[in-house]
Amino acid sequence: MKKNIAVIGYGGQGAWHCKQILNSDVARLVGIYDIKEARCQAAAENGIHVYGSAQELLADEQVEAVVVATPNDSHKQLVIDALNAGKNVICEKPVEMSVEAFDSMCEAAKANHKLFTVHQNRRWDVDYLAIKQIVESKEIGDVIRIESRIHGSRGIPSDWRCTKAQGGGMLLDWGVHLIDQLLQIFAEEEITGVHCDMTNITGTEVDDGIRLTIYFASGKTAYVEVGTYNFLAMPRFYMQCSQGTALISDWTKKAHVARLKAWNEKDVLPVQTAAGITKTMAPRDELTLDEYDVERPASDVHDFYRNFCAALDGKEEPKITQPQVRRVLQVMEAGFKSAQERQTIWF
Ligand code: NAD
Repeated sequence: MKKNIAVIGYGGQGAWHCKQILNSDVARLVGIYDIKEARCQAAAENGIHVYGSAQELLADEQVEAVVVATPNDSHKQLVIDALNAGKNVICEKPVEMSVEAFDSMCEAAKANHKLFTVHQNRRWDVDYLAIKQIVESKEIGDVIRIESRIHGSRGIPSDWRCTKAQGGGMLLDWGVHLIDQLLQIFAEEEITGVHCDMTNITGTEVDDGIRLTIYFASGKTAYVEVGTYNFLAMPRFYMQCSQGTALISDWTKKAHVARLKAWNEKDVLPVQTAAGITKTMAPRDELTLDEYDVERPASDVHDFYRNFCAALDGKEEPKITQPQVRRVLQVMEAGFKSAQERQTIWF
């Protein structure tokens, strides 16, 4: 039987959730609530039931789960109210701005015996899944470093994302996705430090870009870069492994892999540049290096709701767990501290 789900916040992302639920094979949309009259009207015009208040929505016994899709500063109270009303909850990312606030949400979930998860939907992005697949297959050996970048050129949207009090800025907006993805790949690694620089080129009160490194005890590193003032984008993923390199130029492209066949190369031809020659930086030949594209893995974003509903029935573990979300928040907290103090934060 389909699960009855209601959505709080019918903005860009709330409307996206409604669309997903309306097309879901496991969930049914029972209604929405938004504090803005115009958004309630827009939902009604789309044939969606509109509750008169959040309280009315939470008091409706047919609602089994609530999606919270409001600006970041309102997540904590809405999530705790929903859990205390006996609802299961999906909260939009970033779940909150601090580990402390997240812990209080988890306590409410525990006290009410309800499922509480976070919509880290970018775990279903094909570019990330391709990199994860290459790491897991070990086809180019053990991972050493992954660089994950997302570059845009339009600055921060000029809404609540520009304000600090509402949880704006790119570390919280896009950084959370990229950190979450990399911490899934480095799930077993112990984090020892975080270094983060923030940019503010467009003059808002929050960061419009970040450059964040996560150091692991093993010596491996994960690097995340978000930019909103990049008129030419760097590759989406660049990964160094013990037996090769993988690159994804942008999220519509396949992963390109160079696999080392033999370390030693005979008769390296020097490369001539304008000001000299180099053998060290000369390209390899096909006797020592294989190059190929990797097919894009299959992905279905509806699997998020399928997993959530199966977890409600106790048939699956939720894919996005509270300890995973907490680890991401720890890195983001350290990132803010690092940027403010202009130093690496060691754990
Ligand atoms: P938005 O401004 O488009 O919409 C937010 C809506 O929430 C507005 O309609 C506003 O009126 C409403 N609202 C504000 N406070 C409310 C309250 N207390 N009760 C009910 N409604 C309230 O913002 P958005 O882009 O939809 O972002 C919403 C959330 O979704 C944010 O946390 C954002 O980070 C997240 N988001 C996630 C993704 C993703 O891919 N996972 C993408 C975009 C946004």
